[in-house]
Amino acid sequence: MTQTRNATLPERAQLLPGVHRLPLPLRDSPLGHVNTYLIRSDDGYLLVDCGWDTVDTLQALEGHLRALDISIGDVRHLVITHIHPDHYGLAGRLRELSKADLSFHRLERLYIESRYANPDELLGEMHEWLQVNGTPQAELDRLNFGSMGIVERVKIAFPDTTLDGGEEITCGKFAFKVIWTPGHSAGHICLYDARHKILLSGDHVLPHITPSVGLHVRAASNPLADYLDSLRLIGRLEAELVMPGHGEPFQGLPERTGELIAHHQRRLEEIRGLLAAQPEVPMSGYEIASRMRWSRRRTWDDLSGFERRMAVTEALAHVELLHARGEVHKECAEGEITYQLPMPQ
Ligand SMILES: [Zn+2]
Ligand SMILES: [Zn+2]
Repeated sequence: MTQTRNATLPERAQLLPGVHRLPLPLRDSPLGHVNTYLIRSDDGYLLVDCGWDTVDTLQALEGHLRALDISIGDVRHLVITHIHPDHYGLAGRLRELSKADLSFHRLERLYIESRYANPDELLGEMHEWLQVNGTPQAELDRLNFGSMGIVERVKIAFPDTTLDGGEEITCGKFAFKVIWTPGHSAGHICLYDARHKILLSGDHVLPHITPSVGLHVRAASNPLADYLDSLRLIGRLEAELVMPGHGEPFQGLPERTGELIAHHQRRLEEIRGLLAAQPEVPMSGYEIASRMRWSRRRTWDDLSGFERRMAVTEALAHVELLHARGEVHKECAEGEITYQLPMPQ
């Protein structure tokens, strides 16, 4: 994810009658905050996404609710767009405090155990996989353990209702269609109310930053192909207001999805260019990532272990899409996967 620093927390705001945006702080994160959306229902309130499990995030949520004269017990429903810690981490604690029922996509449920409950096996797999994709021995631990601290900001909760996409969630005067939008995460969902022309977009479409799309060691599909398809799907909706997981609500959904698609096309071009510059030399995912541009101001040497891992998984998502399209040749030999443009006959 190309990130921008957002030092001040945005204001709580009523976006339309019955819908509030409650920004919550994400301490130490360049993202600055995550948006949770509060929607009035017939029996209380629905929250969409909830921040991670730290004292300051919970206090900020309680402060927002108090200012609106709502108690945490009035939250009856909790829908999570995807289980990244900044959207899901507080879900377990909120459910204890509020008894809200919890819903998210079936595929996100699959990853809870391996990512948060018992991460050692996945870490071992990831270590081997980073190595197979060309990560130098000396860097393996740095890349692999870069995100472990974040696991402590998740209090696990399993869903009461698993979603598949296509359901309608009725909430007071709103009726949200659940739209499965894989890519940024395998089971990411967006919520769309066609009558009010509003879209809750989670991390699928963000106003200023490019959501990360990386190949996961346990990916069951090609995430960038999924992401681009999901962007086209969402870009056709007649949403007049988009409520993203980070940043300000915005208008102009088709323009934004178009920009994100163009961004990935430029990244695919960049990789083709890197491979074309050395057509005789096969390159690993790590080598491709280390030669790509990640920021205007920072070089590969400036990136943290976690950022490098994200970069490697993002480079792999792009080069795997080129491979799936038949534009790049892939080989696995002597324990290393490499990519190369097809040699002219
Ligand atoms: Zn996310
Ligand atoms: Zn996020």
